[in-house]
Amino acid sequence: MIKINDNFTRLSASYLFTDIARKVAAFQEAHPDAKVIRMGIGDVTRPICPAAINGLLRGVEDEAHEETFHGYGPEQGYKFLSERIAAVDYGERGIDVAVDEIFVSDGAKSDTGNIGDILAVNNKVAVTDPVYPVYVDTNVMAGRAGQPLPGGGWSDIEYLPCTAANNFVPALPTGNPSMIYLCYPNNPTGTTLTRSQLARWVEYARQNGALILFDSAYEAYISDADVPHSIYEIPGAKEVAIEFRSFSKTAGFTGLRCGYTVVPRELKGVDAEGRERSLNALWLRRQCTKFNGASYIVQRAAEALYTPEGREQVAATVAYYMRNAALLREGLESAGLQVWGGKNAPYIWIKTPDGLSSWEFFDRLLNDCHVVGTPGVGFGPSGEGYFRLTAFGSYDATRAAVDRLKRF
Ligand code: PLP
Repeated sequence: MIKINDNFTRLSASYLFTDIARKVAAFQEAHPDAKVIRMGIGDVTRPICPAAINGLLRGVEDEAHEETFHGYGPEQGYKFLSERIAAVDYGERGIDVAVDEIFVSDGAKSDTGNIGDILAVNNKVAVTDPVYPVYVDTNVMAGRAGQPLPGGGWSDIEYLPCTAANNFVPALPTGNPSMIYLCYPNNPTGTTLTRSQLARWVEYARQNGALILFDSAYEAYISDADVPHSIYEIPGAKEVAIEFRSFSKTAGFTGLRCGYTVVPRELKGVDAEGRERSLNALWLRRQCTKFNGASYIVQRAAEALYTPEGREQVAATVAYYMRNAALLREGLESAGLQVWGGKNAPYIWIKTPDGLSSWEFFDRLLNDCHVVGTPGVGFGPSGEGYFRLTAFGSYDATRAAVDRLKRF
C-alpha cells in the first residue's frame, strides 16, 4: 500500500473558510432574498489598475512575437522587476537589498508555506496568536507541530497571545524557538508594532540565534510614521530575518499571483555538523528545483506598478480600502463595540459583545444583519471572543454593512 504523510491527517478536516462558506450557503438557501454582505475572506474587490493592465498587455504582445517571446524565465524572477523592488521598496527607505536577495514568486502564501523546506524539522516554532493559519498548518504538514491540544493549538508550537490584555503586543518567547513568524501589519488583528517594539524582536533573535519570518504583505497600508514597513529598517535585521511581500492586497493581484521574498546574504543557519550555511543559497536551490518562476506576463504587470502612474493608482486603491476601514471602525465604535486595527491595516478586529463566542457572534451577524465576517477563534486559541471584518469590499457594501451593524 502507498504510505501517506501522516502529518496531513492531523490537520482538521475542514478549513476555516470552507466552514464559513458552508454556513453562508445554508443561510442563503433558507433565505434566498437576503442580500448577504461578505466581509469574511480577505480577498480584494477593486479591479487591477490601468498601469498593471498595460504591463499585462505588453507581456502578452511580447509573447506573440518570436523576437520578444519569453519561455522559461529565471526561477528567481526577472531583473526588470527585482531591480525595481530593490530600488523602490527598499532603496527609497534607505535599505540596502541586493537583486540577488530578492526572490519573485507566485505570492506570499506559497513562500511563507514553503520556506520551512530549507529549515530542520526539529526547529522549535513560535507564532503570535491569533495568526494567519498558513504558518501553523504548513508546520503541521512538515512535522514540527507535535500533537493537537484539546483547547486548540499544537503541543510543539509556542503561542504568543495577542489580546486586548497586552494591547496586541506579543511578549517575547520563553521556549527558545528557532523559527518565529511575525506578521505586521497583522492579519487578522489589523494591529502593528512600532519601530522600537520590532527592534526588541530583532535583538531577541540576534541574541538567541532565532530566525524571524516576517510577513509584511500589508505594509502598503501603514500610515503611522513610527511603524516600520520592512523589518530591515531595524539595524542588524538582515542577519536574522526573511521578509515576505505580496502584490495581492495592494494591486489586486490575488488572482494574477505575484509576490516576493527577501533572503539576505548575511543570513546563516547551521547544518547537522554545525557548519554555517547560507539560507539565501539554500532558498535559491529550493526554488530552482521546485519552482519555475512567476509568469513573464505577470512580472511585467508587477513591474508596471513601479511607474509613476502605477504608484499613484496603487495608492488610490489603498486609500479606497482605508476609507472603508475608517467607516467600519467609526461605525462600530459608535455602536458601542470595542475595535482595533483599521488604521494601518485593512482589517478590523472586534471584541464580541455580551460574552458571545466568535462563532455565536458569526451566527448572530449572519442571521440578524446578513453580514459575513470571520470568527476570531479560527485564527488561533487567543482569537476566541473576537471577530474579523475586512475593508476589502466596495464602499457601498461597507456602508450598508455598517448601517446594519449599527441597528444590530
Ligand atoms: N500573508 C498574509 C498575512 C495574508 O493575509 C495573505 C493573504 O491573505 C497572504 C500572506 C497571501 O498572500 P498571497 O496572495 O501573495 O499569496
